[in-house]
Amino acid sequence: MDSSLKVASTIAEIRALVQSCRAEGKQVGVVPTMGALHEGHLSLMRAARTRCDVLVSTIFVNPTQFAPGEDFEKYPRPLDHDLDLCRSEGVDLVFTPTPDIMYPAGHQTHVEVEGISQPWEGAHRPSHFRGVTTVVLKLLNIVLADVAFFGQKDYQQQLLIRQMCRDLDVPTRIETCETIREEDGLALSSRNAYLSAEERTQAVKLSTALQWGLEEIAGGVQDLSQIRQEMSQRLTAETEFVLDYITIVDAWSLEELESPRDHMVAIAAATLGSTRLIDNMLIPPFSLQTLNDR
Ligand code: AMP
Repeated sequence: MDSSLKVASTIAEIRALVQSCRAEGKQVGVVPTMGALHEGHLSLMRAARTRCDVLVSTIFVNPTQFAPGEDFEKYPRPLDHDLDLCRSEGVDLVFTPTPDIMYPAGHQTHVEVEGISQPWEGAHRPSHFRGVTTVVLKLLNIVLADVAFFGQKDYQQQLLIRQMCRDLDVPTRIETCETIREEDGLALSSRNAYLSAEERTQAVKLSTALQWGLEEIAGGVQDLSQIRQEMSQRLTAETEFVLDYITIVDAWSLEELESPRDHMVAIAAATLGSTRLIDNMLIPPFSLQTLNDR
């Protein structure tokens, strides 16, 4: 275990630490998180560790991406355990700001990506992406990393972040890494901790419904609206899932598709009890490599 982890909670501190690494010509990678770290987060750290000289992680439960009534207050914050995990993954620097540091009194500027922020998660969580893009741009400006690592798990989010960086000439390169899943296929999420034992057994249907859709397409089925209907039946049959959407979209525009094309993603969001879960799967031949090489 590397005990040289440095923790900074102010912008000046983290900037000075990163700056001294950059001055030595080192490549800096950053993994932004909201903490409650799991294997999904750790896989991003491992990807960053192999590609960069200096690994920075940020842990910040960003209030502006939660709507009133969502789980901001109850979101888990096991900071000491998270720092232990960062240490064992070889993270060099962790930035743990408070909301006051990120949004001091008088903060007035927000970043909004138009177009692709509107459907799906944008439609179901109207203020969410404005909070995400604002905090990510702030974190990228604070850390000034060469590469930032995000999970495919939040497909629409990473697409928006890429768009924002392109539109606003942010020099940090964005790398998207594969979704890490439980053995039965459930995508890891800090929110899985909210599921009761019964809900946990039902939760797997989110990934199995998407996987079924992928297999239908691989088998040559052309009618995507039929696949959409059946995926939604498979998800909701004999479960308490309340569906937001389960569908197949263009990987770049997120437009819902009626017939197959080369770049497609199957996306889903649904609520089980009080827990909202999202998942997605890239539909071959579309791959993370295509996304990252774009
Ligand atoms: P969060 O802490 O939920 O904001 O997530 C921080 C980063 O971890 C985001 O880029 C997520 O997409 C990514 N992430 C979350 N869950 C997973 C997972 N199961 N596999 C891979 N990456 C993930």
